Amino acid sequence: MADLPESAQVVVIGGGVVGASVLYHLTKAGWTDAILLERRELTAGSTWHAAGGMHTLNGDPNVAALQRYTVQLYEDLEKESGVSCGVHLTGEVMLADDADRMDWLRMAHARGRYLGMETELISVAEAAEKIPFLVEEHFVGALWDPVGGHVDPSGVTHAYATAARMAGAQVHRNTWAHDVVQRPDGLWDVVTERGTITCEHFVNCGGLWAREVGRMCGIELPILAMEHMYLLTEEIPEIRPWLDATGGYGIGAVDFGGEIYTRAEAGGLLLGTYEQACVPWSERETPWDFGSQLLAPDLERLAPSLAVAFEHFPIYADAGIRQVINGPFTFAPDGNPVIGPVRGQRGHWVACGVMAGLSQGGGVGLSMANWMTTGDPGFDVWGMDVARFGDWTTPSYTRAKVMENYSRRFSISFPNEELPAARPLHTSPIYDRLDDANAVWGSSYGLETALWFQQDGAEPIEDVTYHRSNAFDVVAEEVHAVRTGVGLIETTGFAKHQFTGPGARALLDRVLANRIPAPGRMALAPMLNHDGKLIGDFTVATLADPFDGAETFLVLGSGVAEGYHERWFREQIASHLADGGGCDGDVNYRPLGTELAGLSIAGPKARDVLAAVVGPTSPSSGGTGSDVSTDAFAFRDIQRMDLGMVPAIVGRITFTGDLGYECWVPTSLQQRLFDLLMEAGEPYGIRLFGLRALDSMRFDKGFGGWASEFRPIYTPAESGLDSFVALTSSDGSDRNFIGRDAAAAARAAGPERRLCTFTLDDGGTPTGNSDDGTTESGTASDVLGDEPIWHGGEVVGWATSGGYAHWSQASCAMGYVPAAAADPATPPDAFEIEVLGVRRPVTRRDEPLFDPTGIRMRG
Ligand SMILES: Cc1cc2nc3c(=O)[nH]c(=O)nc-3n(C[C@H](O)[C@H](O)[C@H](O)COP(=O)(O)OP(=O)(O)OC[C@H]3O[C@@H](n4cnc5c(N)ncnc54)[C@H](O)[C@@H]3O)c2cc1C
Repeated sequence: MADLPESAQVVVIGGGVVGASVLYHLTKAGWTDAILLERRELTAGSTWHAAGGMHTLNGDPNVAALQRYTVQLYEDLEKESGVSCGVHLTGEVMLADDADRMDWLRMAHARGRYLGMETELISVAEAAEKIPFLVEEHFVGALWDPVGGHVDPSGVTHAYATAARMAGAQVHRNTWAHDVVQRPDGLWDVVTERGTITCEHFVNCGGLWAREVGRMCGIELPILAMEHMYLLTEEIPEIRPWLDATGGYGIGAVDFGGEIYTRAEAGGLLLGTYEQACVPWSERETPWDFGSQLLAPDLERLAPSLAVAFEHFPIYADAGIRQVINGPFTFAPDGNPVIGPVRGQRGHWVACGVMAGLSQGGGVGLSMANWMTTGDPGFDVWGMDVARFGDWTTPSYTRAKVMENYSRRFSISFPNEELPAARPLHTSPIYDRLDDANAVWGSSYGLETALWFQQDGAEPIEDVTYHRSNAFDVVAEEVHAVRTGVGLIETTGFAKHQFTGPGARALLDRVLANRIPAPGRMALAPMLNHDGKLIGDFTVATLADPFDGAETFLVLGSGVAEGYHERWFREQIASHLADGGGCDGDVNYRPLGTELAGLSIAGPKARDVLAAVVGPTSPSSGGTGSDVSTDAFAFRDIQRMDLGMVPAIVGRITFTGDLGYECWVPTSLQQRLFDLLMEAGEPYGIRLFGLRALDSMRFDKGFGGWASEFRPIYTPAESGLDSFVALTSSDGSDRNFIGRDAAAAARAAGPERRLCTFTLDDGGTPTGNSDDGTTESGTASDVLGDEPIWHGGEVVGWATSGGYAHWSQASCAMGYVPAAAADPATPPDAFEIEVLGVRRPVTRRDEPLFDPTGIRMRG
């Protein structure tokens, strides 16, 4: 056995398909001083018994893109390593059992267009030509994916490892990393029985043991293993002609309704199941002595799935079962991989929770290697980033969500669906009041958030659908109440990052792309990475202590990105305090989470409501007194104010695009403030509104949102935020914020694509039928996001979000198209967006539909 080196640039812990891929991609990116440690033999976790199936299709187009990369990689990998991956691209038929599933397939098909995927919607009869043993009456249509198939999991893992070794990396088998310790100099000691390796970076690819590796460093990763079964039949002579006609390997099928998948294997068939009565494995701790073992099959648990299989594919009823494989593999609460740098632990990376290692492993390895070597994953990995989970993802939460996710593995996810497991978790103090008002709840970053308020006497439940739901008319009323009077919405779910200390202003000036406002003011501020890509869009507010002038900065942003931004802020604080970086003095940073509660009032009567409750706060103590007129309290002002007995921070800003205020108070005062505002608002007909109405009103204004319009793959120039990027200080000198040079260059070159707002010419009710003729015209539906945008008969871009702007009475979409197509000189009307299979004419809108001059907001 070769000696273990004492140091390396990077140590990868775990030799499953994911660890091997990470190692391979690191060497490709030039990091060859890399060592992989495997406790036993390569593949000795989940990988060795995987069924080897691979698919390019995924509900999240960004994950689909990485899956496509993985599948396409295998040919090159085989050539490079000389090791066979056993690739069989048989193609796959995705079978829809009802109209909703067909909508989902249509959506996935359309989304695939701008990824260059060549899927095809086919009829049941065409599906039966590919899978001759299916019973047509159980299905309504299908999607054909020519790129699906299966591989040899062990071959793939060894091919990655061999190619990495050839490039200079080392692979040490039978080497258990039993501890990982951060040293005072920031490097990591990976401790094994064969010695300790000191490294700059280590990657936790521990698969079934990733939780245990995380615990070595004091973190609890939100992953849990589930038992998973598939069975192999004896040879089935009847399928021989089908095998011969398809080159020997048949064609794969996914039966979504039956929650089963099937393909040919060794002259027989393979049937995999996602049972409803699913079972977690090793809930608390994965035993280190678990090796390449199988779990005992549980035929009783399989029985309901087998019954469906016998009905949908009767050939199974007469086939002898050769073997049942039962093995564990890990899932995250939402079923996506968990990858990226760990918050607050520089050099600690994870790539785990990869539940489809053979489809996703390559893409995960590539983005990890990009991220580690350049600081940017190079793909949109928002949906896989470990930072999407926070401290609320305890093991019990993870268990509930993973079980929900497993049992729904092939179920349809509707765009307006809120899954019930592990809820409610965090609730704000006014939860009961909003619940009494018939709130329909959603959950965001662990916090219950009111989506809309159902009418009295009706069940507070939203019908899940790809079309318009029962929320439509009620949300219209909420919007109307805000636009014509005043509404109140809870904003506790926003992220609130607080910075104080003598170095805080300089730090924020380095981290944010806009100038940091003077005390009492707010500014919109994008945040960029070193490549000038958008990694945050915030409202930054400055408050000064009335006695000593010490500044407090509140950086308000997207709630779901709280952990993502916290990670970046902590990283920047550490590096700037370490190297001076223009940041003198200490910075105290704290994400306030649910410690600070928010309520916002908006609409033309909002000022009257505020005036009715504001007390005589002395202007000398930083307040405005009771004068909240525009002269005394202008758009983007922020002040401490006493509202009744409640000391609050009040900012004149709102996402509704109307007159409005956000009020922030300690959580213990939120109920008091809520009652006060509701009482004061009564004469003005104040009405509660939720996130759905807020979303509708942002379309009136063409305001983008984080995670849809604003993501780390866009620049400010593309996304319309360039006017909030200040290259110079107010004295004209150059600013030195992160991403400045890239932003300046992008501005000088002009963007290649631009974010635009569109309205559907049909108002939301299509007049054409879908490609496959199964979507009838006349059923109202709006753009959901990720649909292809056509221009001049070609797909030129994609929608980022869509919905109905009730006040403007327009079905809206936002999306990116080439800059030339976005140019006002280009006619606005040659565009189409493909919604649920129907290409619907849309018109580009070059100015907001509501209040284009902004007088309502500013006046
Ligand atoms: C029955 C079954 C069928 C499946 N079918 C498919 C399929 O058809 N398609 C598909 O894509 N996926 C399938 N999967 C899932 C697939 O197996 C996983 O996605 C994949 O194996 C995850 O790989 P990994 O490298 O993350 O983890 P693992 O394979 O668990 O690898 C982790 C490795 O790390 C090592 N390790 C852990 N801790 C340490 C340590 N401290 N020191 C040293 N070494 C350590 C372990 O020994 C292990 O070898 C299936 C899984 C099962 C159980």
